[in-house]
Amino acid sequence: MADHDVDLFVIGAGSGGVRAARIASSYGASVMIAEEYRVGGTCVIRGCVPKKLLVYASRFSDEFEDAAGYGWTVPQPTFHWPALIANKDREIARLEAAYTTTLERFNVKLVKSRAVLEDAHTVRLLSSGARVRAEAILIATGAAPFHGAQIAGLEHVISSNEAFHLPQLPKRILIQGGGYIAVEFAGIFAGLGSQVTLVYRGENILRGFDDDVREHLRREMARRGIKIITRQTVAAVEKVGHGYDVELSDNEQVMADLVMFATGRKPNVHGFGLETVGVKLSESGGVAVDAYSKTSVENIYAVGDVTNRINLTPVAIREGHAFADTVFGGNPTPVDHGNVPTAVFSEPEVGVVGLTEAQARERLAKVDIYKTSFRPMKATLAGRDTRVFMKLVVDGITNQVVGCHIVGPDASDLIQVVGIAVKMRASKADFDATMAVHPTSAEELVTMREIAVSYGRAAAE
Ligand SMILES: Cc1cc2nc3c(=O)[nH]c(=O)nc-3n(C[C@H](O)[C@H](O)[C@H](O)COP(=O)(O)OP(=O)(O)OC[C@H]3O[C@@H](n4cnc5c(N)ncnc54)[C@H](O)[C@@H]3O)c2cc1C
Repeated sequence: MADHDVDLFVIGAGSGGVRAARIASSYGASVMIAEEYRVGGTCVIRGCVPKKLLVYASRFSDEFEDAAGYGWTVPQPTFHWPALIANKDREIARLEAAYTTTLERFNVKLVKSRAVLEDAHTVRLLSSGARVRAEAILIATGAAPFHGAQIAGLEHVISSNEAFHLPQLPKRILIQGGGYIAVEFAGIFAGLGSQVTLVYRGENILRGFDDDVREHLRREMARRGIKIITRQTVAAVEKVGHGYDVELSDNEQVMADLVMFATGRKPNVHGFGLETVGVKLSESGGVAVDAYSKTSVENIYAVGDVTNRINLTPVAIREGHAFADTVFGGNPTPVDHGNVPTAVFSEPEVGVVGLTEAQARERLAKVDIYKTSFRPMKATLAGRDTRVFMKLVVDGITNQVVGCHIVGPDASDLIQVVGIAVKMRASKADFDATMAVHPTSAEELVTMREIAVSYGRAAAE
């Protein structure tokens, strides 16, 4: 008799866990997966998917306005938040059911329970107290919102988790944070008609992104009426009547009906026995893993946000798949975390891949920058005051395009395609040789001929 009940036990049925479970099963492994909340994980239940649905909803206000310039008379549109949330919830429930069906189809045994590690081969299910012996264990527990230091009134503050279930749309919302989630929700609420104040402790929003992108997006957000306050933090939140009096670090007071923090996310590494079994953490606070997602314990692996590598759904999925290929498919597969294209679903969108200008200057002997900013064609008749920004970062020695940065409509879709070229190490000459598609915004990517600025090593030092 085998000394274990299953070949693989997966903790967490999110993006990484579900993919790993079904691929391992397709290789013939017996697999059990535990989920303490809802199948699908953060992305499906309270991340990418519901967020994008709210983004779509928020964009109609501009569309209604812009329609007038194209000859349409649109009766005064009204918006009903509860209808949006109910429709969104229905879609999320459908997706959750689809994920569950997929697991069943692949013979993965799903247990709705919190799972806790007892030793390197034993998982205890808190719902029943049952113990399951597993040959291999995969930690795919994701991450959770983190509000930062304790301040007065922190109990009044919501995170993105609650933002998806508000009973009503706030008239005034203050969002603290400068990362992609803060910026996206600022766009969502502003588009739906809320008065939005964004407070961020740093110099500018979207730390880590190219400086031109940060500046351009900030200007565009301000144009849409979002008040952005930088170099400040929320010092206290006091409930007054139906709203909140928010005190900033410079003593400025901001009144709001809702206060949301999007101040970062922490890997879910506590409270389920990682310490007990000796799984080590990395300096970033995630589970430390090697290139094959193996932890410090021989038969325990970890993928996705819990490892705090690149916290995006496609990365978690790729890591989960590679883990299954490695451990159950007989095909050791490291994950390539280089040149991951990524988007911010702000208004307007941001799409980036590769090096920023600053990173390129640090790493390369010669860097050529091509950039352009222009009014998109659709904005002309609409009379909308908005500009698109595009930038190519080119290795001045090899002519390879090492970075592309776009702010404008459909930037997320554009960067997926540009990502292929960058991954294939396309040169600027390859971009130039590609015929333009006219009239589009994207054609600018292949028609930028003039170097805006060129840096040699001397300039970088
Ligand atoms: C608001 C928001 C918007 C986002 N937008 C995007 C986007 O546009 N694009 C993108 O690529 N990424 C986006 N992300 C990030 C993306 O959601 C994550 O990178 C992705 O979900 C990570 O997958 P995962 O499998 O590591 O973890 P998760 O999907 O978080 O799954 C982990 C699961 O484990 C469960 N769990 C935890 N501990 C236990 C336990 N002990 N026992 C049982 N179950 C447990 C949790 O309930 C959860 O369901 C967004 C995230 C947020 C919060």
